[in-house]
Amino acid sequence: MSTESSIIVVYDVGSGTFNYPADISSENRILFEAHKHEIQSDLNILKERKEPVASFLEVAVNPTVDTQRDFIIGFVSSEPWRVINIVITDVSQQKKYTREMRYLVDFDSLTGLYNKDSFTKHVDIALAAAQEKKEQGKFAMIYLDIVQFKAINEIFGQLTADSVLKHIATSINNFVSDAGFGCRIGSDRFCAFVERSGDALETGLNDLIEQIAGFMGNYRIICNVGVYVSCQENLTAQEMIGRAILAQGIIKGSVNLNINYFHDEMRKEMLTEQEITSLMNNALKNREFVVYYQPQYEHSTKSLVGAEALVRWIHPDKGMISPAVFIPIFENNGFITNLDLYVFECSCMFIRRMIDEGENVVPVSSNFSRHDLFDSDLVAKLEEIRKRHNIEARYLRIEITESSFMGESDYINELINKLHNCGYIVEMDDFGSGYSSLNTLKDIDFDIIKLDMKFMDDEEQNNRGGTILSSVVRMANWLNMPVIAEGVETKAQADYLKSIGSDYVQGYLYSKPLPEADFEKLLMSDSLGSMKVNDSKETSEGIEVWDPKSLDSLIFTSYVGPAAIFEYRDGLIDINRINGKYLKEFGMRENERDVLMKNNLLDSLRTDDKQKYIQAIENVIATGQETTVETWRKVTSKSCGTVTLCIRTDLQLLGKGKNSYLLFANIRNITTDRHTQLDPCVIDEAATYHWEYVIGKKEMYPCMRCMQDLNLPERLENYPEPVIENGIFPHEIADFYRDWHKQLDEGKVSHLEAVLPLTDARIPHLVKYDLEFDSIGRPVKAYGSATPYNE
Ligand code: C2E
Ligand code: CA
Ligand code: CA
Repeated sequence: MSTESSIIVVYDVGSGTFNYPADISSENRILFEAHKHEIQSDLNILKERKEPVASFLEVAVNPTVDTQRDFIIGFVSSEPWRVINIVITDVSQQKKYTREMRYLVDFDSLTGLYNKDSFTKHVDIALAAAQEKKEQGKFAMIYLDIVQFKAINEIFGQLTADSVLKHIATSINNFVSDAGFGCRIGSDRFCAFVERSGDALETGLNDLIEQIAGFMGNYRIICNVGVYVSCQENLTAQEMIGRAILAQGIIKGSVNLNINYFHDEMRKEMLTEQEITSLMNNALKNREFVVYYQPQYEHSTKSLVGAEALVRWIHPDKGMISPAVFIPIFENNGFITNLDLYVFECSCMFIRRMIDEGENVVPVSSNFSRHDLFDSDLVAKLEEIRKRHNIEARYLRIEITESSFMGESDYINELINKLHNCGYIVEMDDFGSGYSSLNTLKDIDFDIIKLDMKFMDDEEQNNRGGTILSSVVRMANWLNMPVIAEGVETKAQADYLKSIGSDYVQGYLYSKPLPEADFEKLLMSDSLGSMKVNDSKETSEGIEVWDPKSLDSLIFTSYVGPAAIFEYRDGLIDINRINGKYLKEFGMRENERDVLMKNNLLDSLRTDDKQKYIQAIENVIATGQETTVETWRKVTSKSCGTVTLCIRTDLQLLGKGKNSYLLFANIRNITTDRHTQLDPCVIDEAATYHWEYVIGKKEMYPCMRCMQDLNLPERLENYPEPVIENGIFPHEIADFYRDWHKQLDEGKVSHLEAVLPLTDARIPHLVKYDLEFDSIGRPVKAYGSATPYNE
């Protein structure tokens, strides 16, 4: 039967035989015979009826296969009911068109997964069916996003990128198996709906991530997965997807986390953030932000020496909103600068009023967030306000926390310098809360340290708190820096602070933050004093206080940052102790302390990093200088499984034994900065060339190996031209390589990599760049490397 033509077979009711047309092809005859059984059952019904009929039967041959053929079989009978004509029409072509249309409407043509519309439709149907059956089954909605898919496109080309997407689709199909379905929801974003939860879900997801990661061999494809697991509430597919997306969004920028589950707090936080953002501008206009003042006292004389301005939001309907709720949101959306300048101006107005009314005044300190500090006009703005209200700068103190300028010491010193030139006093807030190190105090020109009692964890409060505090105070005294102890709640704390010579206090024990009118009363009734702020910055004792051998500074340092103390003997390391922050830096819990203590540290390092680490130790021992080393370290913990982290360690020598050395290690987990898409363990690091490219200046600084093997000078100008000229980067890839530097200079990319043929011999190398940005997102430096590439 040719397409779209019909044949008629006549069925003789009396004899029950079929009469085929003379020209029927053998193929069609076989086809017909094959379906005789279905046809026969229709015929049996029809022949009994003895009435005019025209009924149809649809038959598909080879269904679900590309060669599917479809037929419509019509039955026509008329008086005197002796025969029934069977009209068989091949409608394969029409059916095929219809199927293709359906497919286009329902499926993603590249991956064959559902598209978004049909996916949500199917999920909603499945959910409704489950609800109808009152099934208790738990469903999970998964949202999966590839990290840096754009880079895969750029480096490997669209064909490869497409094959990655197809592979992901296959992996998703494997993952859902027959318990759900997948969908490509956007370019490199996928969803899956699956009836699974708990461990089965977790295992499945880990397998899925691993399957995807391994598709391109050494080049690991990283994906982030957000998961929403259905609970009591009845959500639509769309809402489930929304929550999975929200959960996934939290992962961005975090290296150790690949799967994140939605929890209800996230939604509440999001709603709060939206609400606060929508209210903030009017709140500022309507003067809903009110400044409270928390008094600061000198312990020994009981005199009032200053106050901290703390903002409160008094909303007409909601009442008082805590700064802990809205400050982080404003810090995120930048509104904080408006608010901080407002608070600063309120303090100025208050001081002005006191002076005008003939009252005594004390200095008031205002808090400034990171966003403020990187506003290049900050000092000018403060000066404008201060001068407008005609206040002497010595009445105004500026509080800055260390975490707000991390890694920007030079910038912050410049800012503090400007503030000092105008006469402001600058305080370091929340000392001990973050990554403060021995050097922060030395390197940054603060006038006052604020030490918050709440940043001592319980262990430290109970056992070692005293020693720690006293060493901070001692060190500050040595630097002639006043220390304000904040958050002093108990008499015991106050007495202790006094006994170690810490004289300035702020806390509930003395007074809560007060509304302006109440603080005004204090100013009138309390005896006033002043803090002795040293402006010469001369130190009172010798440099020995910095000698890290002293137990006090040792504990002090362990208090202020993630740290470990270990013994080094004959190339072996024995960890003596680590602090809580050290554990946290590895993402571990207190009960996992043994994992880091017992495992030989060197064994957890990459082979080539071991040597690097030992060299750094030997260097500390030989020179007595603090030495920094970056290594990749593999740790296995209950909470995270096995992870490879890039750890920066600052090593200091604490003491020497007969043939052993005691070292102090301050660490930072910098995996996020250093993480590249390639599994670091598989790179042949020993054969790698490294260099640094300084953005904007077109300067390149090669590593020792580059200099020796490739005969390069210490510094190359007008990079990359010199290495194109000397043929290290041959002419056919010159423009490509130039274009990379253009991209780096513009800060458009954070990571580049490609396999390039290097030198005259055209030896394939995996060439990579990782761009480093400063805290406000400007590109600073790019770290280049080239490793021989063997497929
Ligand atoms: P902070 O700068 O460390 O301020 C000290 C916080 O400790 C204040 O909380 C204060 O009320 C509280 N506090 C004082 N004494 C005690 C005590 O004895 N025990 C306890 N448990 N807490 C005590 P508050 O006012 O809720 O402010 C929280 C944070 O919000 C501040 O911490 C600061 O980081 C931020 N903040 C407040 N006002 C402003 C502002 O105007 N601008 C900026 N940028 N941040 C602000
Ligand atoms: Ca503060
Ligand atoms: Ca504080």
